[in-house]
Amino acid sequence: MNTCIFCKIVNKDIPNHTVYEDDNTLAFLDIKPHTKGHTIVIPKKHGILANDFTELEYLELMRAARIVMKKLKLKLSPDGFNIGWNDGTAAGQVVPHLHLHIMPRWNGDGGGSQHSIINNPGDMSVEEVIKFF
Ligand code: 5GP
Ligand code: ZN
Repeated sequence: MNTCIFCKIVNKDIPNHTVYEDDNTLAFLDIKPHTKGHTIVIPKKHGILANDFTELEYLELMRAARIVMKKLKLKLSPDGFNIGWNDGTAAGQVVPHLHLHIMPRWNGDGGGSQHSIINNPGDMSVEEVIKFF
């Protein structure tokens, strides 16, 4: 039995506040919003990490994210957005079903940027890291 909480939302076993839905994607308001309109965008198909999905599935998720941003902009008139996802427990992922966070932002709302997630560059220089590629 699939016990994933986001799969239960997709299957309508748990109610949600839907912002956008299509055949492959669902977007709904986060139950504990960090900003007004904080929205979660998920593929309806279960998978944990971005790399669990095909390129097309990934692109469909990004397409839905763009639509959600447009809707949020239209309805709530934010000044900006933070968009991202916690890919893996090391990155802070709690719900093991891939999901994007879309957080509308307002000038002077007191929040930080993506740079405030972490500032621990490790012990290698940029010149050393690029040798891995
Ligand atoms: P994560 O840390 O895994 O990236 O974030 C999971 C997010 O899902 C959290 O922001 C949390 O508030 C949200 N969330 C967890 N369970 C539910 C739920 O049952 N309904 C809704 N709408 N959001 C949920
Ligand atoms: Zn799931």
